[in-house]
Amino acid sequence: MNNPTKVCKSSLQPMESVDWDFLSHKQALQIHGIYVPGTDPLQTMEGRKIFRFFRLSILPEKSSDVCVPLKLSMVPRQNTPYSFVSGELFYNGEKLCPKGMTIRHAPLLPEENTWHLKGYTFPFEGTPQLYKELRLNLRISGSCPGRCRFCHRWHSHRLKPDGSQKNNPRKILARLLEDEGGEVLKKVRRMLVISELFGLEKRFLNSISSTRDVVDKFGYGEDKPFGCSASDVRGLEGLKTLHTLIRPSRYSFSLEFFSGRDRYMGHYKGLPMDRVYPILENARKAGFREIQLNYLAGIDSLEELYDGMKKLVELGLVDSLGLSTFTAFSQEQLDLRHESAWDPLYYHQAVNVFNRLGIKVFRPESFDMGTPYSVLMEKTE
Ligand code: SF4
Repeated sequence: MNNPTKVCKSSLQPMESVDWDFLSHKQALQIHGIYVPGTDPLQTMEGRKIFRFFRLSILPEKSSDVCVPLKLSMVPRQNTPYSFVSGELFYNGEKLCPKGMTIRHAPLLPEENTWHLKGYTFPFEGTPQLYKELRLNLRISGSCPGRCRFCHRWHSHRLKPDGSQKNNPRKILARLLEDEGGEVLKKVRRMLVISELFGLEKRFLNSISSTRDVVDKFGYGEDKPFGCSASDVRGLEGLKTLHTLIRPSRYSFSLEFFSGRDRYMGHYKGLPMDRVYPILENARKAGFREIQLNYLAGIDSLEELYDGMKKLVELGLVDSLGLSTFTAFSQEQLDLRHESAWDPLYYHQAVNVFNRLGIKVFRPESFDMGTPYSVLMEKTE
């Protein structure tokens, strides 16, 4: 293998609007976490000790195209060179003050607040585009059956006070309009169903079908994107049905990573790759024009990433990637990160692999995946 992961420095293009040094800091913040003096970084949830979330909003003063605040883990002082003190960000004790940016803490409502159970991610407070993307969560089980070791969603694994596990799409939309105003759906540019696993293809498809009917009736707009992460739909017939329900023609499958699939993911999600290929082939046969794989960078070695992606490309089973960075939210999860992925250069090299293999980053990007990958892609293109 001729070093597939080497960054082509000659192809790095200067881009006036991007502060590359600060971009590396953003990446490193996701890797190392942030220390906040005076706050216990650990909390106990379902008997486990986990790091608290810390949302850091980093907004360019001029551009309106920004992502939601970075979701970071709050860690002990010895874990990280980053700290947040009196509303300011520090790196090894030195204040980070990127030109043209404002940085602030974007607090979340307390865990017990029912806001977390409303079934939609709205509005994106702290960004200029409060209503750009609407994500609907149709299922709240209190504990996703996936039970993946790398997952941070046990932060949201809580049941509704009445113990119900399903979010009725009609009720979600009704609440949304009540909270945000009758015209809000007109401002939404794309809608996605992001949910825990359903475990049954038919049940998932029924939910998607009824949700699409509801959002169309509520006036979302029948020409606007309506998609979902559809790892529950795996058989050819189910995929044909799914193809009639979503727009545009994109099958989104949560691949996550190649190595340790059987150890780091639950058995339903962590299929070995030789069982993943037929699912993606079915998606092609069902007529999907684009296969989008959600990929979590930081767990594979770069060689595993390259070999895995190359094979998918050779089989014609990937067109685009929804990229995110693995962030550890507990001491045990820190061990899941590949040793090479502690270096921010790893992510540049990963992006370089995607470029070399001709894989595009999913566009429009998912709202909280937007940076730094989009700019990294441009940097290495
Ligand atoms: S299936 Fe998804 S939500 Fe469920 S535990 Fe695994 S990664 Fe988390």
